[in-house]
Amino acid sequence: MNQETASRAGGKPQRKTGLETEVQWLKGVGPKHAVSLGKLGIETVGDLLFYMPRRYEDRRNLPPIGFLKPGQQATIRGEIVDIRSRKGRGGKVILTVTVGDGTGHVRLIWFNQPWLRKTLESVKGEVIAFGMVKESRQIMEMSSPEWEAVEDDDDSEDFARITPVYPLTEGVQQWVVRRAARSAVDYFGDQLKDPLPKELRKSHDLPDLAWTVRQMHGPDGEKEQEQARRRLVFEEFLFLQLSLQMRRAEVKQEIGTVFPISKIGSDEMPDGGTLFAEGVERLPIWEELVKMLPFEMTDAQRRVTQEIFDDMERPAPMNRLLQGDVGSGKTAVAAAAMLAAVRCGWQAALMVPTEILAEQHHVNFRELFDPVGVRVGLLVGRMGARAKKKAVDGALSGELQIVVGTHALIQDKVEFAKMGLAIIDEQHRFGVMQRAALRGKARENPDVLVMTATPIPRTLTMTLYGDLDLSVIDEMPPGRKPIKTHWKLPHERPQVYASVRKLLDGKRQAYFVCPMITESIKMQTQAAVDLHYRLSEDVFKDFRVGLLHGQMKSAEKEEAMNRFRNAELDVLVSTVVIEVGVDVPNASVMVIEDANRFGLSQLHQLRGRVGRGRYQSYCVLIADGRTADAQRRLEVLVQTTDGFLIAEEDLRIRGPGDMAGTRQHGELDFRFGDLIRDGVLLEEARSAAIAVLADDPGLASKKNADILNRVKQRRSEESLITVS
Ligand code: ADP
Ligand code: MG
Repeated sequence: MNQETASRAGGKPQRKTGLETEVQWLKGVGPKHAVSLGKLGIETVGDLLFYMPRRYEDRRNLPPIGFLKPGQQATIRGEIVDIRSRKGRGGKVILTVTVGDGTGHVRLIWFNQPWLRKTLESVKGEVIAFGMVKESRQIMEMSSPEWEAVEDDDDSEDFARITPVYPLTEGVQQWVVRRAARSAVDYFGDQLKDPLPKELRKSHDLPDLAWTVRQMHGPDGEKEQEQARRRLVFEEFLFLQLSLQMRRAEVKQEIGTVFPISKIGSDEMPDGGTLFAEGVERLPIWEELVKMLPFEMTDAQRRVTQEIFDDMERPAPMNRLLQGDVGSGKTAVAAAAMLAAVRCGWQAALMVPTEILAEQHHVNFRELFDPVGVRVGLLVGRMGARAKKKAVDGALSGELQIVVGTHALIQDKVEFAKMGLAIIDEQHRFGVMQRAALRGKARENPDVLVMTATPIPRTLTMTLYGDLDLSVIDEMPPGRKPIKTHWKLPHERPQVYASVRKLLDGKRQAYFVCPMITESIKMQTQAAVDLHYRLSEDVFKDFRVGLLHGQMKSAEKEEAMNRFRNAELDVLVSTVVIEVGVDVPNASVMVIEDANRFGLSQLHQLRGRVGRGRYQSYCVLIADGRTADAQRRLEVLVQTTDGFLIAEEDLRIRGPGDMAGTRQHGELDFRFGDLIRDGVLLEEARSAAIAVLADDPGLASKKNADILNRVKQRRSEESLITVS
């Protein structure tokens, strides 16, 4: 122990100063309230200054109680004229408090909070209450309103202002936080150091930090509050974008594999008899692709493929996101990239989220790659031990040049001889960890391509994948007819079945998707089994009806899928296991039971299983439309097939966390920002981050010192939760 630490350990604890000052030393707080604030995670003055209100109450012109209208959110102020409680149904205590202000009366009602009575009885002056106004037997009511006694408010004289309302927890009173925050702003507000350089603030019209914090805790007006919030959101987004952009730049600094793609097939590329199998013509990559693919690529497919090739030719590892709506043809692009890797002497791996999808890709790839002598293998969890061993050995020896698989690919025992390209399909189903794990299977830094079929709103893309380069397929293969979507009520099933029958008679195939039952996989399976029974024994008993659900054995699933693919089944009854990726172009109708239970993007994904060939395709959503919300959701699907539009709408309805899947939440937890409201600001912050880094790539200059600190802090917190 050196002298300094020894003396510190022995002496009295140092009283911290500045923003580190403990809140108990603040004027108007003291030890008792400091305990309260501690419950909110507020220890220091700095914590308090950044503990922001949840909402504001404009107390400058409170509506007279006599003028309240039902359906309005209102704040009222008045005297308590009556308090009574009674037992309601089930023995619950109902507390009714009548408040008047000379213009009329309003009833405040609380259920099952008997202790409130005492508190309210002890109120001497007026109370303030905030809640939704309802009308009940000629008198206005608010149930479970937020309330406080006016006497509690420190600033009674200064009452008519826009008052902050802070998030609280049990046993903490609003006025305690409010008074403490005011005190913190008054005595310490000027000590806040603005991390944003002046020019940056100026060019983005952002107020300085001290003003911002003061306005947040006690706005002069709505406009000022909005400006202050904008500044905080911008700052938060800016630091996120800076850290993403820096990570992206760092990856570009790393040395990865150079794939000399433009030399493939030429004499400059020594073959040594290994790159092309015997008897296979040595062609330049694009010529080989034209020969290999059963269709001509769309312009969009060609463009993104070239973007990927360009990345692969550069020494820096590729880190690219390929986005394209369902059915836009991402698989062909992946196949092209894999072929290029193989022709340069490397292995490629494709990881997908479900076994069915892995098997489908395997079948398709065998069809594409067998004729050109490229060896493709499959690796999924439920494969037999011998087949699995063969695949694992093939990856290790290099015998397999392309391996398609599920999570099984990233298990410990799997190793590759020479993996140069890792592709992840349906990335939104995986977490960041899995992306890292697949990358880790390569000896060197492999090139990484991730693909998402669910178009996600741009705000989410910028947040979750902001460190990736982006390629977008914005064009559908030719000849596609837009899917016609109908919404039918449950009692209209007979008509739906009749229409499906017509299509089946015309040699098309049909999917029936069972309700999504989240409570239990067993119930979901049961629903599928039941529906299969009903359709195969009754409704479509003259057709061949198959069944597919998650609890079936791998081999059974594969068999059902294969029979459907080979048109040995006319109808496939399935749970959501077919949600992603499955591709059977002859299937032209999908009936989705209980469509209300699915998210919009998920329905769009499901619907994407049809409309993949040249036939007019249909999607029928069966749902009762009891709620207006459900109605609105389903209407969106009926009206548009644009996945990006649907994704935006889904984001609005469900919120970002839900949409991105559970694994990514951390990145979407903003303190101030809101991806739905603040999309424009996010764009602005992103351009600002790019500009700042263009000017000062390492944030090494003096003016950016504070920014650098904040970004570093952010990234060290991040590295605790994600490996990337
Ligand atoms: P997704 O982008 O949803 O993964 P797929 O790659 O599964 O889409 O392609 C959807 C269907 O479109 C497949 O049947 C595929 O063979 C076909 N397809 C892809 N690209 C083209 C193209 N350029 N021309 C014609 N058909 C194509
Ligand atoms: Mg796909």
